[in-house]
Amino acid sequence: MSAPERQLPVHAPMNQFAVRQGELVVGGKRLSTLAEQVGQTPFYAYDRALLKARVAELRSALPAAVKLHYAMKANPMPAVVGLMTGLVDGIDVASAGELKVALDAGANPQEVSFAGPGKRDAELRQAVAAGVLVNLESFREVGALAAFSQALGLPARVAVRVNPDFELKGSGMKMSGGPKQFGVDAEQVPALLKEVAAAGLAFEGFHLYAGSQNLRSGSICEAQQKSYELALRLAQDAPMPVRFLNLGGGFGIPYFPGEQRLDLMPIGDNLAQLLQRAQTELPQAEFVIELGRYLVGEAGVYVTRVVDRKVSRGLVYLVADGGLHHHLAASGNFGQVVRKNYPVCIGTRADAPETEVASVVGPLCTPLDLLADRMKLAPAQVGDLVVVFQSGAYGASASPQAFLGHPACVEVLV
Ligand SMILES: *Cc1c(COP(=O)(O)O)cnc(C)c1O
Repeated sequence: MSAPERQLPVHAPMNQFAVRQGELVVGGKRLSTLAEQVGQTPFYAYDRALLKARVAELRSALPAAVKLHYAMKANPMPAVVGLMTGLVDGIDVASAGELKVALDAGANPQEVSFAGPGKRDAELRQAVAAGVLVNLESFREVGALAAFSQALGLPARVAVRVNPDFELKGSGMKMSGGPKQFGVDAEQVPALLKEVAAAGLAFEGFHLYAGSQNLRSGSICEAQQKSYELALRLAQDAPMPVRFLNLGGGFGIPYFPGEQRLDLMPIGDNLAQLLQRAQTELPQAEFVIELGRYLVGEAGVYVTRVVDRKVSRGLVYLVADGGLHHHLAASGNFGQVVRKNYPVCIGTRADAPETEVASVVGPLCTPLDLLADRMKLAPAQVGDLVVVFQSGAYGASASPQAFLGHPACVEVLV
């Protein structure tokens, strides 16, 4: 008997994009045609139909009463924010710059919330003037908002962002539990609520955000349950009934070999149970889930052209016109501890067998500029288009585009 073949972990299938005449189809067009339309490489393309499908899928999996917010830091392209504004129930911003994009896009200020540490006075004033909900992250913000509310003659709408005493297990990025710069520690919230009441701020509820990029529905359910319990406890000290309960998000997408898509069903069931309890325990509370990458990540590709092909000591290098400066995350330098490959394909040879081991590198003079490290790809030549999947979130805006003085990338919504 022969030894069983060792199964190497593989990427989740990227079958959200069709293949036509040997090419990947994005936004209804063959990739080479899309590149002509864009007029340059490298570029990011975000597929409208996929964005819409993703929101529809979430709506059908989650209880109808749960409000969906888009955390626009995942992809702040104005056209994307405009599209998302029409699809979701609210937009979460993390700076006055994002606030402007959201308001420009037509977001209803009543459904915009503003979170983030270190909100500057000017930003807090803008938030009060705009009438958006501010997620309080410190005692200082209470006093500042009270002053601006008085000066402007407008109410300051606030929720308290809580730094919970637990974490979201198995998250790509932990944002709660232990000391954190985000929110106010749960044990300090009763004191903060007293100040909120004394300052006459318009208290609306709580925001609990435990972490990001989680593919385990069990962990997400557990965090949502604990968040609910914590909010219920803290509500006893609230000056007004809780109307807004943001239970966070953290829904992940599969980036690396061995990762699988998140199962939404248990999350929907869990939220339905919590909503049931809330009917008596927090009868005025509206549940909010805030998602960034889960909404937009899988709908986007980064496209870069092969400008050189060389062999160094037996390894094929495809040298592309884009790289780390446009797509820091795919290069492995945006929070990854161990570098792993994003899913990558040769988009102009999308149905050719992947028979060649090659590395895709960018034009920067640093070995960090790596888009694919020894991956099995269709054999590619100069002129072919390389596609990096799962690139709709934390791409262009999260990359050091000025580094090394190469041209900026273009973003299109198609
Ligand atoms: C970054 C962030 C998000 C979005 O995270 P994703 O992993 O993109 O879903 C949501 N809420 C808060 C408070 C954040 O800081």
